[in-house]
Amino acid sequence: MVSRTTDDYQAMVMAGCQAVCEPAFWAGFDRSSAQGFYDYFCQLTQHEPRRASMFGLPHYTWLCINPKESEDVGLAEEVLAIIPEFMKSPNVLGIGEIGLNKNSRNEVAVLEKHIDLAAINDQLILVHTPHLEDKRKGTRLILDILKADSRIKPERCIIDHVEEHTVSMVLDDGFWAGMTLYPETKCTSNRAIDILEVYGTERIWMNSACDWGNSVPLAVPKAMQEMKRRGKNASYVDQVAYQNPIAFMSQSPRFSKPEGV
Ligand SMILES: [Zn+2]
Repeated sequence: MVSRTTDDYQAMVMAGCQAVCEPAFWAGFDRSSAQGFYDYFCQLTQHEPRRASMFGLPHYTWLCINPKESEDVGLAEEVLAIIPEFMKSPNVLGIGEIGLNKNSRNEVAVLEKHIDLAAINDQLILVHTPHLEDKRKGTRLILDILKADSRIKPERCIIDHVEEHTVSMVLDDGFWAGMTLYPETKCTSNRAIDILEVYGTERIWMNSACDWGNSVPLAVPKAMQEMKRRGKNASYVDQVAYQNPIAFMSQSPRFSKPEGV
């Protein structure tokens, strides 16, 4: 949402959006210092919740240095050191989106440090899986790293950007699966609903990508419309669009169930 306009907030509220959940994200360019992340975390924990509240929307966030920028382990360590101070903010649900981009050794090292931070502080985890040809391999690697840490409970982790070839390994290992809806790349609404039809609606949600690139903040409401067109009943749509995200995020004491759902 930090790169979105107030018109987007207005449209989201009118389409039935009840809360915003915004992960720390790649800004579209690499930040040059930990100070850049400090300012970004201030934006996510102070400024953006204020902006969302002007539209009556609760705003939640996640903190991390994303995998794309974590190739620089020195920078990543500096950023990791400032995260605990921001974890005290009332809108922080956990650590994310962490994960892998190119599945490199440095990315794995920084991923493990984030997992440790989450475990020590009893935080939920939001995971980014690679979009490249290495998606399947990267997802497997991430699941194995999470499972190797006995402090981590799979039901407290959501593995985002699942697609047809990665969703079952995520669900089979007891994790939550997130389907990020994009107009072209990643997962379209239609593909997401096909996945639900094959794998069911337990421990799975969909999210609208609202970033600086070509993305559609109303993707979830549009998918809800498509579910109805396919004959899904109201409780099915409610389960996927509202109740599942509520169930996952309610594992954090910071999350309050929105009044409207
Ligand atoms: Zn991501």
